[in-house]
Amino acid sequence: MKLFAIIRYVWALPNTLLGLLLAFPMFAFGGSVSLNNGVLEFSGGGASWFFSHFPFFRRVSAMTLGHVVIGVNEEKLARWREHELVHVRQYERWGPFMIPAYLLSSLCAWARGKDGYEANRFEVEAYGRTSSKT
Ligand SMILES: [Zn+2]
Repeated sequence: MKLFAIIRYVWALPNTLLGLLLAFPMFAFGGSVSLNNGVLEFSGGGASWFFSHFPFFRRVSAMTLGHVVIGVNEEKLARWREHELVHVRQYERWGPFMIPAYLLSSLCAWARGKDGYEANRFEVEAYGRTSSKT
């Protein structure tokens, strides 16, 4: 059982490192970090600035990269924790292929004339919807 946990963390590690690369500079501008459910959660400070200044990220309150979740603030992190944990499980399943697969899913949605976020299969799963509803 413990071996599978180690494998999941190693498999998702490239994404986790990317998350840390993004989170640490944000953290330098204030904010907080905590460990929840085996996931490092960063919020506030530079993360708040990040979410308000990049067009795509204005739509969301938190984002997951491997075992790192970055949120606008602690309140939003708590609100979105369950959703982001679904993404953590997806990173554990897809490992280094998660980001390309996520982007490909958005491209396929756009190609079908749908919203690249709403109709993305990974978001559909995280929102607990079936793809037929999107
Ligand atoms: Zn999501």
